[in-house]
Amino acid sequence: MKQIMILTAAVLLLLPLYANAQPEVPIEEWTGKTILLVGAHPDDDAGRHGTLAMLQENGNDVYIMLLTNGNVGTRDRKMTRQRLEKIRRHEQLNAMNHIGLPAENYINLGYTDGMVEFADKEELVKRMVWWYRKLQPDVLIAFEPGYRYQRWHKADHRAAAYLAVDAARAAEWHLIFPEHLHQEGLEPVRINEYMFWGSEGNNMTVDISDYREQKIQSRMAYLSQFSETGRSNYPGNSEDYFMTLDDLPAEERRAYMDRFRNSTGDTESFRYYRGAPDGVGSGPALGQREY
Ligand SMILES: [Zn+2]
Repeated sequence: MKQIMILTAAVLLLLPLYANAQPEVPIEEWTGKTILLVGAHPDDDAGRHGTLAMLQENGNDVYIMLLTNGNVGTRDRKMTRQRLEKIRRHEQLNAMNHIGLPAENYINLGYTDGMVEFADKEELVKRMVWWYRKLQPDVLIAFEPGYRYQRWHKADHRAAAYLAVDAARAAEWHLIFPEHLHQEGLEPVRINEYMFWGSEGNNMTVDISDYREQKIQSRMAYLSQFSETGRSNYPGNSEDYFMTLDDLPAEERRAYMDRFRNSTGDTESFRYYRGAPDGVGSGPALGQREY
């Protein structure tokens, strides 16, 4: 009897977690929503491009906000930060074009790659909150804040994961950064839905099979990051030259295209959470159970 009571109590306690673990309307039927993805680098979003393509095509407004311009991600000793920043913007817009997202839906806060943790945090959160209030998103997509944090999680990703949710928390309180309201006419926003990637507590699987081709193309756009030639010996001497697949030696090009075709699956997974930003970290311990 006592065991039954404990079990009943446990079920009742966990019930709200289960109830909040799925969207009220299946994601495939979402329309008219504003969706904001926050990441650290141009390409952090790439693994979610099937879902973003679907959401955009279904009549939602999808925005991508990245904290850094990606200006140090190279092993090419001839590369400069200025040129790489241009290359990565070009790649990002090219990738977004493949999934139907216009250039005006790309926001880059311009921080130096690898240095987000050392940026002025109040200023950074304030800028993020400004965008949250401006866009009034219904859904925030971001790195899972708990992802492997106990071991180690790449510095910018660790910072971006926390900052994305910290800014969501701040954005709903009108007395935090009140100048946004008084000087710029913005309104607070309470974001009620979250989708985290890289989670060990995934509870949402999105069928992206109809968008797989677009995702393959968009992922291949990040040539400076994902190809050996682009990473170590970026072709062209002009600041304004952007490499294409044709710049890859034939064998590397074939392997590159095969790699994305073989590694792009029919689904994308997230930890979905619905509720106040304060509760984002609640739920079963990561890595222990799925629900
Ligand atoms: Zn990254």
